[in-house]
Amino acid sequence: MASRQPVRAYIALGANLGDAADTLSEALHALAACAGVDRVRASSFYRTAPVDCVGPDYVNAVAHIDTTLDAMALLALLQALEQAAGRQRPYRNAPRTLDLDVLLYGSACIVSPHLTVPHPRMAQRAFVLVPLAELSPGLVRPEQLLAVADQPIERLPLPHRSDGLPPP
Ligand code: AMP
Repeated sequence: MASRQPVRAYIALGANLGDAADTLSEALHALAACAGVDRVRASSFYRTAPVDCVGPDYVNAVAHIDTTLDAMALLALLQALEQAAGRQRPYRNAPRTLDLDVLLYGSACIVSPHLTVPHPRMAQRAFVLVPLAELSPGLVRPEQLLAVADQPIERLPLPHRSDGLPPP
């Protein structure tokens, strides 16, 4: 269902199987091509060690979009993009081809069986806070970054285009 006014939503992207950076680039371009999604802008890509799980390092990023989709429709769209990237869920925190989470949906607070926004664990994760601070510095307080400073995270030197998307 479409709402009337665009809402700025923040999305976390992560992948740790296959060519993870390529998967994130494709996901951003796919997102930008979706009806109801406008003005996609992404952070740099970052390499991070897995949190609460084992497996290869992750590539993570955060993007913001302006969307006329309501929050549940946005979640459904992100899950469809995960499926298109070949995501399977064999067990909790399994390695993943593509993980897309809604971090923020405007100023909404949502607690429903399928969607919690703001994302309940975003403040505990350097792989969210560091790219979020790059993209929208006003959304992350210095003490929040300090609290996750023990989590290794490395910014990857990927070229970004002026529209905020990595090259296709
Ligand atoms: P994950 O395995 O991390 O992709 O978690 C996906 C599950 O978390 C799905 O069942 C979603 O319905 C649920 N979920 C709850 N809140 C969110 C959120 N803010 N963003 C994405 N998925 C969410």
